[in-house]
Amino acid sequence: MAMDPVCGKEMDEAAARVETGQTRYGATEVDPQRGTRQFHDGKWYYFCSLECRSKFMAQPGAYLGQDAG
Ligand SMILES: [Zn+2]
Repeated sequence: MAMDPVCGKEMDEAAARVETGQTRYGATEVDPQRGTRQFHDGKWYYFCSLECRSKFMAQPGAYLGQDAG
């Protein structure tokens, strides 16, 4: 079980993968009702909502316990 690094909610990564396929253009399709994910620094992170993903992308280091930049 993956954890949303922003709010701490447990996410089912298998379900998120199913719901967030790749389009033919390579952009990630997201369904905000089922959670979403983001590829960052070599791995996938899972989020319960686009709001959480936006917060994470704005300052990923703050949520990963790393120094930003
Ligand atoms: Zn969340």
